Amino acid sequence: MNTFESLGLSNVLLKAITEMGYKQPTPVQSEAIPLLIRENTDIISLAQTGTGKTAAFGLPILEKIESGKNSPQALILSPTRELCIQIAGELEKFSKYIDVRIVPVYGGANMTTQIRQLRQGADIIVATPGRLIDLIERSIIQLDTIKIVVLDEADEMLSMGFKEDIDTILSQTHPDRLTWLFSATMPEDIRRISKTYMKDPKQISVAGGGQVNENIEHIYHLIDGRDRIKVLTRVLDFYPDIYAIVFCQTKIETQQVADKLIDHGYPAGSLHGDMSQAQREQMMNAFRKKAITILVATDVAARGIDVEDVTHVIHFHLPDDLESFTHRSGRTARAGKKGTSIALVSKNEMHRLRTLEKIIKRKIQYAKVPSGMEVCTHQMQYLINRITTEEVNPLAVEEFKPLLDDLLEKYHPRELVEKIFSMEFNRLLEMYRNAPDLNISPDRSGKSYDEASYHSRDIKRWYINIGIKDGMYWQDVKDFLKEKGNLGKNDINGVETLSSFSTFKCSEEVCRRIQKGIQGLTLSGRKIFIKEDSKKETYHRSPERNQTRKQKGQTF
Ligand code: AMP
Repeated sequence: MNTFESLGLSNVLLKAITEMGYKQPTPVQSEAIPLLIRENTDIISLAQTGTGKTAAFGLPILEKIESGKNSPQALILSPTRELCIQIAGELEKFSKYIDVRIVPVYGGANMTTQIRQLRQGADIIVATPGRLIDLIERSIIQLDTIKIVVLDEADEMLSMGFKEDIDTILSQTHPDRLTWLFSATMPEDIRRISKTYMKDPKQISVAGGGQVNENIEHIYHLIDGRDRIKVLTRVLDFYPDIYAIVFCQTKIETQQVADKLIDHGYPAGSLHGDMSQAQREQMMNAFRKKAITILVATDVAARGIDVEDVTHVIHFHLPDDLESFTHRSGRTARAGKKGTSIALVSKNEMHRLRTLEKIIKRKIQYAKVPSGMEVCTHQMQYLINRITTEEVNPLAVEEFKPLLDDLLEKYHPRELVEKIFSMEFNRLLEMYRNAPDLNISPDRSGKSYDEASYHSRDIKRWYINIGIKDGMYWQDVKDFLKEKGNLGKNDINGVETLSSFSTFKCSEEVCRRIQKGIQGLTLSGRKIFIKEDSKKETYHRSPERNQTRKQKGQTF
């Protein structure tokens, strides 16, 4: 068994990590720390958050930098300000007994304060790419003295659009610098970065790296898309003491789901990019302290968040970018603990769930949405368990003995137990007495989920403001929608095109994909948009539908 002592760390660092309660190195730490201390090498490590990777690169950095130099020697790039703050905080703790200056710089915070801290001297800079570029352009930071660059959550940085910034930053560092790249997944762009900027990198692939953590149980519920909120509240009611992050696809959806939960009396809050930095920090503090126990969040806002003991991650919708599923799920089962990831999936989304299974190399188990009675029984068993395992405090019992004796005189013990249970369960029983079954059965007709989806209740008719006036006939509109939403052959149908607009039928999930694809597109100076078709009727097939297709080649 590995110990921190056997990894080659100096006593001052060992003392600090022992005080932090670290007893044994995690697999990525056991692999990376001795290698990075011993050799001057580049590495690529497939590791997600929760595996202890901050110490895996942080401790070797602290071993390698020399104190007393008046210029930064290590640069850690991370995708979000939350992660930046977290990494800087961990490094501060590791370096309790050494003299090293760590400065985090990230967007959304006062730049003057950051500039002042940098001017006072920094040995290690922890930065988000955007803010770092700003500071380089203002000549506050020069990168030529940097000996080690860490790209943390590299895949996340790329998916958040920092590709060019990373290129700019890496091309300005010294050619002899070391590059340590950490990523949960290995998309093509990461391979390109490693080929362009890294020298003969050693691969560190620890068990569980690049895959979904074995401590996470993955399940999905097959549901009607219109029942999502009902299913969510039922899941929340089913698990006693649930401490969960609920992931939504958009900021608007995040806020709406959080508002609905709060309306229903759940201790919930939201976290998304439309909130100020101060509001986000306040929300995170409330979640950490368990003042709220259900955090509804977007992928971006929740990236890199390290909260211990999260019991469940709930995917209200599957993420647009399926790679994000790994990052979402990694918010639970941290530091060796167990957790559950629950995806709410409509029939339309089944093909995406299957793709996801290939990406994470794990089967996601089907589970029925609990029935109303199951919710009540589960909660009751939990209460019985709590009562039977509760240690009686003799002092408190002694203090209130007359009151208890009085009760026992008036009531039979069984009657008392019934009263206590009623107090706890009347609301739940009332709510769930006639609760509907929220499951839909998988289609057994042999049709694919795509085909079956046309008959599901999820399908809606949508309006888009492009039509024949724009030189688009129905087939052109269909091709356009398919291209922008990256759709399969059966994802949309019923495209009808009139002079200034078109309508089509598809599920909400498919429509969201198209909306994402057309974001920011204009046609003849007009912003293209999609909305639900308010007339909710099938348009009579227009005569134009039979006209010959126009030549393609419109530019958007
Ligand atoms: P990270 O993957 O670096 O975000 O670490 C996830 C969490 O595990 C953090 O809260 C760390 O403080 C904690 N941690 C990391 N390494 C260890 C260790 N060897 N023993 C106990 N906790 C650790």
